[in-house]
Amino acid sequence: MRHFGKPEEVSHMSRKLSAPLLNMANAVTRIFRKNSNDIPVPHIHSREHHQISRKHISRAALDVLYGLHKAGYDAYLVGGALRDMLTGSEPKDFDVVTNATPEQARDIFRRSRIIGRRFRLVHVMFGRDMIEVSTFRAHNREDDQAGHSLNDEGLILRDNAYGTIEEDALRRDFTINALYYNIANFALYDFVGSLKDIERKQIRMIGDPEQRYREDPVRMLRAARFAAKLGFDMAAETEKPVRPLATLLYQVPSARLFDEVLKLFLTGHARASFASLQRYSLFDVLFPETGKRLHDSDQRDIWQKLIEQAAINTDARIAQQKPVTPAFLYAVLLWPSVHTRLEKNLAKGVPYAPAMAKAAGQVLNEQIKVTSIPKRFSTTMREIWDFQGRLDNRHGRRAEALMEHPRFRAAYDFLLLREHAGEIAPGLGDWWTHYQQADSVEKEQLVRSLGQQSGGAKRRRRRPPRQT
Ligand code: ATP
Ligand code: MG
Repeated sequence: MRHFGKPEEVSHMSRKLSAPLLNMANAVTRIFRKNSNDIPVPHIHSREHHQISRKHISRAALDVLYGLHKAGYDAYLVGGALRDMLTGSEPKDFDVVTNATPEQARDIFRRSRIIGRRFRLVHVMFGRDMIEVSTFRAHNREDDQAGHSLNDEGLILRDNAYGTIEEDALRRDFTINALYYNIANFALYDFVGSLKDIERKQIRMIGDPEQRYREDPVRMLRAARFAAKLGFDMAAETEKPVRPLATLLYQVPSARLFDEVLKLFLTGHARASFASLQRYSLFDVLFPETGKRLHDSDQRDIWQKLIEQAAINTDARIAQQKPVTPAFLYAVLLWPSVHTRLEKNLAKGVPYAPAMAKAAGQVLNEQIKVTSIPKRFSTTMREIWDFQGRLDNRHGRRAEALMEHPRFRAAYDFLLLREHAGEIAPGLGDWWTHYQQADSVEKEQLVRSLGQQSGGAKRRRRRPPRQT
């Protein structure tokens, strides 16, 4: 899911860039021209002076590093994996950079291939592991632009220029992501004060923050995510442009934003990510309708609690290595506006099923303008929402039939969240909890008891018969 400099996204984005933004891209180039004249000198920490050990690097990554080294190339582990190792978390993946071109790197490894058309990387396969190898890259210098107007191609060409390790370091996003571990001497190379920032727990943009957010607005989400994941703060000048520039995210392809939302919410730190997004005014950009409900509805505390609890539950599931699905997450994130629209439709006298179908359709249509939602997830989301109106319908054999539905479990979890958040009175959730644990005799008793009691399990709203 790496988009850093990939041609597909860059070209997609550049098509959408407006003229002022392209001028900003030009300004970025100038800044980097200045930087690349001003070559940073690395602090080199020899193997006995840093904590990166080969023990923590995957076999596959070591094989790639050694393979390149033996073939006579420079080979470094770079970026997120080093950051994670130094902050005590398990790296998700290992990225390698080298001075070998993609063709040269591919020729070294049997199971490898070049991917990307303009921005080319090598994927090296080791069993189920994949290591991504990229060639040192530079921001373009002004002279590279000779003959290239700032058209759609401009950004792409700049992005693909090979460079030196120093240039490669300067075009990364944050200092904490710009460390290099050299397999030739096991030393750690720090070009931009990365170690100091890790120690100070600071997220600091390399270069001018505003320019670099304009160049790639996703960096704002990345900053918020790393702040959440690592428990770091943004440096003041890195934080300052985020709120004013947040709406630049609307220019990013929706599929890329969907991927970013998953990284924010489905990698074990959803609770902190939600807080971080709200703190930096990014949540309202990603989820505009929900954002509104969280600000100005009378139920805002309920919605805040609903999302927070869902985030806490998601983190707990990931910690226990249980599966999580984007559909459930998105069903929760969009529920405040589904609910609001549903109520409006019902108030107009529309029967429940079409009222829900319409609300869901409207909300999904609005949301996919910002973050895409693959069909397989939106179908499940609709089922979870739809189920909320059916869980009270438990007479006769209905409870048993509902329980057998593949979406029952998610819908039940969703109901518990709504009760917990105080959106609906408790009772129905408990009934279903008992029902699921009951043997057949107890089940019959539970269903029979429905006729006699009018208590907790009663729905707030009587729903007309379901229309199909
Ligand atoms: P994680 O894998 O936990 O999401 P990561 O830092 O490894 O974090 P990747 O998306 O895997 O992030 O990218 C690898 C490296 O590429 C980063 O560490 C950073 O140096 C660089 N990078 C990624 N995205 C960008 C970006 N948008 N702008 C500049 N550099 C980037
Ligand atoms: Mg990574």
